[in-house]
Amino acid sequence: MRKLIFILTLLVGHAVSAQQLFDEKALIDNLKYLSSDALQGRKPESKGSEQARKYIKEQFTRLKVLPLGESYDLPFEFTSRSGTKVNGINLAGWIKGTSKSGKYIVISAHYDHVGVHEEKIYNGTDDNASGTCALIALAEYYQKNKPEHDLIIAAFDAEEMGLQGAKAFVKNPPVAIDKIVANINMDMVARADANELVACGTFLYPQLKPFIEKVTAPEKVKIVFGHDDAEKDKGSDYWVFSSDHGPFHSAKIPFIYFGVADHKDYHQPTDDFENVNPETYKSCVRLIALASRELDKGLN
Ligand SMILES: [Zn+2]
Repeated sequence: MRKLIFILTLLVGHAVSAQQLFDEKALIDNLKYLSSDALQGRKPESKGSEQARKYIKEQFTRLKVLPLGESYDLPFEFTSRSGTKVNGINLAGWIKGTSKSGKYIVISAHYDHVGVHEEKIYNGTDDNASGTCALIALAEYYQKNKPEHDLIIAAFDAEEMGLQGAKAFVKNPPVAIDKIVANINMDMVARADANELVACGTFLYPQLKPFIEKVTAPEKVKIVFGHDDAEKDKGSDYWVFSSDHGPFHSAKIPFIYFGVADHKDYHQPTDDFENVNPETYKSCVRLIALASRELDKGLN
């Protein structure tokens, strides 16, 4: 009997894992690595930034994300707030769509963070190793379930220095800008401590809201809307220019930004892997995968 139960457990376990939208263990392993001390906070131009890129590119290659040019690297230069020239490197590749090929949805997350200050490493687990690893999970999901649009999978650099990677991408896009129909941006998608994942942008682009409302998966985390009405959402409650979707909005490209509310570890050296609840994070990424699927199906 015990043996039979053991076999049944194995079978059920296998059936559950076969239903996963993406490899959930890999999601957590990736998060642990990208936000480890070894990467020293992933500041632009640092050794840790280079290690992060190497890792992301290995994942892109493994998942057969196609380079847009000769490689995944899209280098750019910008002037920092203190006036020095900085070299950033965005990473981008694409997955070919089926019925709407030639029109692009850009799925993005910034991989940089703020580095080391006063000998403390700012690991930026939620901000934004979480979005970067979600990006890798989505690439896997869309390789198994082909999208209708062509998808650009973009890991931006230098977000923390003023959305520089996204600004460079929009200014000098790898495809014609009028072929980009939407941006789905992820920044801080792990710490949904109140079990709420915010989809920001539908006040400005109400045509996108019904697609996201179609997601009815029984998740512990719920999608809520907001932080996008300038009349109502004042100061730091207004998130329209708070991350890399901002430059897309400025270029009149509709966006949805997925993120969680600020928490006590936001931009602190304590934004660490140990403070993430893996089940909450997986729930958020599953919801984003399903919402992005509805946007891909619904948009023309
Ligand atoms: Zn961020």
